[in-house]
Formats: sequence, structure tokens, C-alpha cells
Amino acid sequence: MTVRRRRILIGVLSFLAVLLLIFGRAALHLTRTALTDRSDRRPIPAGSADDASRLEEAAVERIVDIPSDPADAERQLVDLVRSARARGVRLSIAGARHSQGGHTVAPGGLVLNMLPFKAMTLDAEKRLLRVQAGALWSDILPVLDRQGLSVAVMQSDNNFSVGGSLSVNCHGWAHDRPPIASTVESLRVLTAEGTIVTCSRNERADLFTHVLGGYGLFGVILEAELRVVPNELCTLERIETPVETYVTTLGSIDAAGGPPAMLYGRVCVAPDPFLTKAIITVARRAAVQPVPLPPLRPSETGGLDRLVFRGSVGSGYGKELRWDAEKRLQPWLDSPITRNQLLNGSVALYENRSDSTTDIVHEYFVPPAAFPAFLDQVREIVPKHPADLLNLTVRGVRADPDTVLRYADRDLLALVMYFNQPRTAEGDRALVPMTQGLIDAALSLGGRYYLPYRLHATKEQFAAAYPMGAAFFATKRRFDPSELFQNRFYSTYGR
Ligand SMILES: Cc1cc2nc3c(=O)[nH]c(=O)nc-3n(C[C@H](O)[C@H](O)[C@H](O)COP(=O)(O)OP(=O)(O)OC[C@H]3O[C@@H](n4cnc5c(N)ncnc54)[C@H](O)[C@@H]3O)c2cc1C
Repeated sequence: MTVRRRRILIGVLSFLAVLLLIFGRAALHLTRTALTDRSDRRPIPAGSADDASRLEEAAVERIVDIPSDPADAERQLVDLVRSARARGVRLSIAGARHSQGGHTVAPGGLVLNMLPFKAMTLDAEKRLLRVQAGALWSDILPVLDRQGLSVAVMQSDNNFSVGGSLSVNCHGWAHDRPPIASTVESLRVLTAEGTIVTCSRNERADLFTHVLGGYGLFGVILEAELRVVPNELCTLERIETPVETYVTTLGSIDAAGGPPAMLYGRVCVAPDPFLTKAIITVARRAAVQPVPLPPLRPSETGGLDRLVFRGSVGSGYGKELRWDAEKRLQPWLDSPITRNQLLNGSVALYENRSDSTTDIVHEYFVPPAAFPAFLDQVREIVPKHPADLLNLTVRGVRADPDTVLRYADRDLLALVMYFNQPRTAEGDRALVPMTQGLIDAALSLGGRYYLPYRLHATKEQFAAAYPMGAAFFATKRRFDPSELFQNRFYSTYGR
């Protein structure tokens, strides 16, 4: 072999070795993840209820599946409410049960499973959707998509029910908007007296403002009239920024071409740089809107995205790999994309399916100016505890003028954290000090925490975050004097 040929061969081999080093490690890591990503979670035992935390199991008298036929369902629900009240049995209301603190569980009581109750009608011209409370966003998006319409405000995934979303007053990636209550025209509600009433901003406004964000304590939401918005093709842009300049970067994004349709940030949770860099994903209406728009595709539920996410559990390298993939690959893969497609993500892409561990969401709201200071505290607090932070996304939420137990009393930034932890009572208790520390940090900066997750806040922290809480629960007892509608959120903070 000539010297020249030998050099070329060495060059090619070195190049292959470098490729193997870079991709081989990733391939090995992802293969290991595929082999260990277990789906061995035992089903909830018959006669018990639980939620997405899988830490709230309790024996209940019965889980009542609401019939899908509206007339049957309403007759049965009225009878059920009246007989439960007469017998002194407590009633909890369950949608997709993605709350994580027993908000759908009243031990020993009846659980209303609203999911079969999911019919809907759409007035496309008026952009009004009338929908029963058990419908999931994954049921609704295809219906809207066929008419060129989209959901105005929902969570960042499609697996949640309308009734549950309204009762926590959810929010997501919709940019420059208050939470979902702002999109509700009216509600039909079954009260604790066993009567069905309509409420809105002009009719029984007191009930309307308590049921929205009311955690199932004021009555059963049967049906909602929601304002919807046009679907549109969006281009995606990703901007990397140090967390110190996150808020000024948001300002310049809004200034350049007006507020985008959707926006979220992701803060790096890899060991280096831990919580100091962020990627902001901006979805803007594309200049050219094809007619018709590309139709909605089913949501992804597995594949490489899931492996990359689950591979970050307990692994610094896995977290780095995910951060790199988000930075380098994601922009190539997605854009352009319709608003509905962006909203049609499924929790199946990342959910924990193992029996021994669980993934718990936390969410803290802070004024935008306090964002870097809050992250300074998170960076201090989290590593002191046995917590594995898998994800931290950031969304903006506008002030909420519609609900009583409001988290967004002004424009705020929401920091949504996703932790992996053991699925045991001890494992859960071990994280109470971390949650309380994070709540104190948010409170010290004029912020608060979101209510649908673990009930780890002290009563004092709840009162500091939600000063209207005492009046909210007093009004609950005025609407529901026999305290028929109950759950663990109420038994923890309501009395
Ligand atoms: C992985 C994950 C991601 C999440 N993402 C987001 C997000 O992006 N944004 C956000 O805001 N929240 C988010 N959440 C938090 C929150 O728990 C969900 O928004 C909410 O639970 C969604 O609805 P659901 O159908 O699961 O409600 P459920 O958990 O079933 O119920 C929630 C509350 O609503 C009440 N309720 C349910 N149906 C009715 C009804 N018909 N009438 C009266 N009360 C009712 C229940 O009693 C309960 O108190 C997330 C939670 C998880 C676990």
C-alpha cells in the first residue's frame, strides 16, 4: 500500500471511530433504555381509586361510569346526587385523573367517572363548541381540525378532559392568553341540590367563577360552551438564551412581528449547564396558509422521542443527549406544523409506566422579573434533595379575571417541573421539604404554586399563596352545605 493510500485509510478509519464514539454511545444508551423502559405498572385494584401520581390509592364505595347518552346520564346523575346526599356519602368527580394529589378521590365515597360523557356540537360560523365534560382534547382536536378550527387554550398534551381542565383552570403553550376560563361562554352544572343550572358571566356568575378552577367542589360540570380559534400553519423557530436574558428575549420576540401563536421555553436540566440555559420555541403564523391545511395526524406515542426522554431518568448523559437533540435535531424535524398538530401531543410519549417509580409534576408561578432569581433558588434547593429533575418548561400566562381561586392574579411566568421519584410513601415524604422549599422561594418573590399536584404545601403556605382560599371554601359550604362534593384537596386545605 502506498503512503498516500495508507493515510486515506487511516483518515477514514479515524472518522468512523469518531462517529462510533459519538453515535455509538448514544445508540448504546438508547438500546439500554429500550430494554429497561418497563411497562409493569399494576392496574388499580377493583374497588379502589387513584390518580396519575399512583400514590393516592384509596378504597371507594363505587366508581360510577356515567352513561354516554345525555338524557340517561343526566337522569342518573341527578338521582345519584340526591341519593348520595340522603345517605351522607361523599362524591368525587374524575376526568382523566391527571391531577396528582387525590383531587379525584374521596376515600369511602362514590367516584363519578365522567369520561364516557363526551358528545359535542360545533357552530363553526360562531366558533363555539358545545362539549360534554368527559370529552378529551384528543376527541375534540380532530373535530375542530376538520372545520379549520382549533382549541384556544388547553394543556401542552391532549389527554385531559374538559371537566378536569376547567376545574383546575388549565393553561398551556397558547401565548399571551389567560388560562382556559377566559374561553368559556357558559356551563351547565349539576349542583349539590340535584338540580341542573346554566351559569355564565351574566347568569349565576357566583357559581360560574367558583366552578371554574373549583376542583370539583361546587357541582358536576356537565357541559361547556367554549370559544375556539382558527387553526393555522406555523413556522417554528428556536432561540437559545442564558436564563438571565430569558425575559428580555421574550420581549424582543413579541416586538419582532407581534406576539406569536404559541411559545414555550425549556431550561437545560443536564448537569452542565444545570438550569442556566434555555431554548425558547416560537410558533408563528406562516406567511403562506395552504388551503386546506395539512390534516391532523395521530399523536406519536412512542419511538425515539420516548426513548430519548425516558433515557434521561437517573442519567446525566441521558439528560445531555436530550438537550443536544432538542437543540440540534428538533428544529429540522418539526417545522412547519399546524397549531392543532402542536397541541396534539400525548403524555404517552414520556409517561412513566413502571411500578416502582412515578413522575410528579410541580408548577410554580413567578412575576417575569423574578424569573432568574427564582431559578437561582431552584438551583440551590433541588440538588439538596433525592430528586431527579427530568424537565423544566416555561410558559407565560396572562392575568385571569374570571375565577375566584386564581393563580394568575397578574401576568406571570409558569415553571413546570417534572420529577422522577420512588413510588412509595417514604419516597414521597422525602420530597416534602423540597416542595415546601420551592413554594417558599416562589412566595418570597411574589409568586405562588399550582394546586393540582402533590398536597405537600403546609396550610400556611396555601393561605399565603391563595389568600382568597378561606372565602372560597366558605362559599363551597354555602353552595354545598352537606359537603357532598369532596376530595383530598378539600380535606387537606378546606376545613
Ligand atoms: C403529565 C401531566 C401534564 C400536565 N400538564 C398540564 C398543563 O400543561 N397545563 C395545566 O394547566 N395542567 C397540567 N397538568 C395538571 C392537571 O392535573 C391537568 O390539567 C388536569 O388534571 C386535567 O384534567 P383531567 O381530566 O386529568 O382532570 P382530573 O385529574 O380528572 O380532575 C381534576 C379536578 O377536576 C375535577 N373535575 C373533573 N371533571 C369534573 C367535572 N366534570 N365537573 C366538576 N369537576 C370536575 C376533579 O374533581 C379534580 O378536582 C398536567 C398533569 C400531568 C400529570
